[in-house]
Amino acid sequence: MPELPEVETTCRGIRPHISGKTIAKVVIRQKQLRWPITENLPENLSGLIIENVDRRAKYLLLKTNTVNTVMIHLGMSGSLRIVNAELAPGKHDHVDFVFTDATVLRYNDTRKFGSILLTSKPINQHKLIRSLGPEPLSDGFTGRHLYDLSKNRKSLVKSFIMDSHNVVGVGNIYASESLFMAGIHPARQAGRISLKRYQNLAACIKIVLQQAIEQGGTTLRDFVNEQGNPGYFQQSLAVYGRTGNACIQCVSDIKQIKIAQRASFYCSYCQK
Ligand SMILES: [Zn+2]
Repeated sequence: MPELPEVETTCRGIRPHISGKTIAKVVIRQKQLRWPITENLPENLSGLIIENVDRRAKYLLLKTNTVNTVMIHLGMSGSLRIVNAELAPGKHDHVDFVFTDATVLRYNDTRKFGSILLTSKPINQHKLIRSLGPEPLSDGFTGRHLYDLSKNRKSLVKSFIMDSHNVVGVGNIYASESLFMAGIHPARQAGRISLKRYQNLAACIKIVLQQAIEQGGTTLRDFVNEQGNPGYFQQSLAVYGRTGNACIQCVSDIKQIKIAQRASFYCSYCQK
């Protein structure tokens, strides 16, 4: 599943290929994604210029030269790539944004849990975005922010940092990895962690996500590859998926528990 680093990598990967270009047409072969693609999206986008490609949480935002912004979510299996208009679409290539220079931004999604919506609202007021917490890599995301929100919370710290109202983009893999780096047990109560430890955790979340984005950067050329599925990358993981293997710090066995139905990995010696 594309997580925040993949979406950020996608954002950086497609931006130089479509910014400043004029949309000639939008071809929809399958409009039934997680939600139906916005009615009249092709008519409303034709002739508009993409001024910028941005990201908020896991939404890619194609900002046009009008009030309209395209919001793309990759869902469970979505991906975007840049192809030439002459390349015939494959089975799961559901949507093409065709530009006047024959560049195509092509949306592929085998499981169809993604979404493509058009909004004329200021993006921060959109109902899918307005209640979201800060971006983890922004200056607005700090240990103090987590600490202040955590007061009296009985939820477990792993669920707490995965809650997008508190901070966006900390998916299951990155929650496990950040908690390991910070030395915090994933099942510790959120409301019982000190400010100092939250400051360390916030720094670790930034490092883990930044490293993932940098690793993804090496796959940027794949966005113009006409074969295959671009943008998802394997990264080196310290605890996630390593049940029974030796901890990289202390050689204890990595343990696995379920927290809020999600597999969680930790070292009981290194994480308290
Ligand atoms: Zn350990």
